[in-house]
Amino acid sequence: MENSMRLFMESLKLFPAGVNSNARIRREMCPSFAPCTLFIKRAHGSHIWDVDGNKYIDYRLGYGPVILGHSYEAVRQAVHRHDKDGLVFALENEIEIKVAHKVQKCLPSMELMRFANSGTEATMAAIRVARAFTGKEKIMKFHGHYHGWHDSVMFSTEQKHKKYGRKIMPASLGVPSEIKKLVLVEDWNNFAAVEKTLKRHHRNVAAIITEPIMGNAAAIMPHRGYLKHLRELCDRYDVALIFDEVKTGFRVGLGGAQKMFRVRPDLTTVAKSLGNGYPIAAFGGREDMMNMIRPGKVAHGGTYSANPVSLTAASTVLDVLMKKPVFKRLNWYGRRMMAEIGDMLSAHGVSHIVQGVPEMFQFLFTRREEISNYNELQECDMILYAAFQYEMMRRGVMFDEDGEEPIYVSYSHSKKDLEDTLDAFEDSLHDALIPRTPVGIDTRLSEKVKIL
Ligand code: PMP
Repeated sequence: MENSMRLFMESLKLFPAGVNSNARIRREMCPSFAPCTLFIKRAHGSHIWDVDGNKYIDYRLGYGPVILGHSYEAVRQAVHRHDKDGLVFALENEIEIKVAHKVQKCLPSMELMRFANSGTEATMAAIRVARAFTGKEKIMKFHGHYHGWHDSVMFSTEQKHKKYGRKIMPASLGVPSEIKKLVLVEDWNNFAAVEKTLKRHHRNVAAIITEPIMGNAAAIMPHRGYLKHLRELCDRYDVALIFDEVKTGFRVGLGGAQKMFRVRPDLTTVAKSLGNGYPIAAFGGREDMMNMIRPGKVAHGGTYSANPVSLTAASTVLDVLMKKPVFKRLNWYGRRMMAEIGDMLSAHGVSHIVQGVPEMFQFLFTRREEISNYNELQECDMILYAAFQYEMMRRGVMFDEDGEEPIYVSYSHSKKDLEDTLDAFEDSLHDALIPRTPVGIDTRLSEKVKIL
């Protein structure tokens, strides 16, 4: 990691904490065995290369977007055919209509939509629409759900310290304390808690915003009927239901989580997999709500909104997703990986859970039989996970060092990648389970995990 370390030292002089997104340096919040943030030189297909010449099978995929594989040829060619025609017009372009039709075909709940550039922008706009439509100001979100870094949602996103309990905590300095008064936070999957809070506060609540699968907390799944329960409560109390499908949209299937669980939200946000890496997002939903966006009513803008280059990428991505057996492949690959990882851990007597869906999943070290919310997730042994991540990285397989970030697979991951990954996993088991200091002292700390 010599070159990464050298570049990181230089970066520290230019960028706060040496990075351009706090998510890329986690040392204060999550255990890490690597000495510094890696610098990546290039990525192609299922692989990523760092500046020290190491090659990894990539399961981070840029936190999810790279559904087809890095630098996917059809997308690359389409974009470069288009970029010679100009990048930004500040006027409309026919491709917007083309892509919107395709998005709508996959997500019919998006009766009207607007394009944006990032998930953060999309959730910010959806919340504004919900507030304007309902004439109410509070929002309800859930502990451990991440919706971007704008003020309204920067609460209780990564509350890893038990001492804070279930208090609503800003996840950043600089968020005005007045905004906290507009946010209600509940534990996810608790049917009674959300009902009780909404019963009490509904006159002031504009929206419930939720990830339909907890994509920022190790792919925790909704309990049976939970999303329907949220739908019913929103109908009963005149509250907008926002599904933040920035991670699940176009990843867990063409119709996203809303199709998987058969729940129609009022508003939806999508981003990542829509562009396979190009910056693109969309928010949309009920016609009557989205029609609030116009001069004199709800503001939405953006110099780069609906830029033709990102939309060209999105158009091609959607074509590939619709025409090629992408989800069949992702499902097969992920299913096998989930099963074999589980079997290997069981064979070594390590208590664990493998959870999520094949396109987006995680393995966790815990004695629990199920993880339903963010508090329970904190009881998993993330130090052991980080040790595993490091051993896998040394063997050419890249998971995120934070076990809360799911493992993603892409259409470019091959059978050989799967075999190499599973071999690396088997090979990592011993070193990860019993990490030793250079003088041979067993540093296994875990009381949370049973290793027989
Ligand atoms: N919503 C969800 C569910 C996300 O996972 C993320 C990013 N990880 C965002 C919103 C914010 O998206 P962006 O990073 O593109 O602003």
